[in-house]
Amino acid sequence: MISPKIQDAINAQINAEFWSAYLYLSMGMHFQAEGYNGIANWFRIQFKEEQAHAEIFMNYLNSRGGRVVLKEIAPVPTTWESPLNAFVDTLAHEEKVTGLIHNLYALAEAEHDYATRGKLDWFVSEQVEEEETAKELIDRLKLIGDNGMALYMLDQELAARTYTVPAPLAAKA
Ligand code: MG
Repeated sequence: MISPKIQDAINAQINAEFWSAYLYLSMGMHFQAEGYNGIANWFRIQFKEEQAHAEIFMNYLNSRGGRVVLKEIAPVPTTWESPLNAFVDTLAHEEKVTGLIHNLYALAEAEHDYATRGKLDWFVSEQVEEEETAKELIDRLKLIGDNGMALYMLDQELAARTYTVPAPLAAKA
């Protein structure tokens, strides 16, 4: 059985993951409308990954005898000035999520809930990757500047990204 404190914190994290999914879906729709199909594809895959993160937490909560409580998802922004802008927002958001995961980790330790702490290890590593990827794309977009051909080529490259079910969810499915 999971403690009510940990259950509430995981439910809050589930909401945060769905908010992330919503944010990236909004980015995907914005860039699709603007004709950046590759960047749109990248964000739509990001959307699926965030949904998967929420699913991992939901499965985990049920596996521990807890109850999933789905709450309202707050609205997300709908437009971005440029791809660079969107990736700057992405990095800022992922840094925030890293903080949430670390708080959850600290709570699991304080509550002596070592199963939850162990479950969070994958998310700690995942956040390192999320931040690294956003940083890399920010650097590349800064180099590209207003070079339309270079931006076109990056868009083509991001069109090739495919979705892979995250390991903890693939193991469950
Ligand atoms: Mg996430």
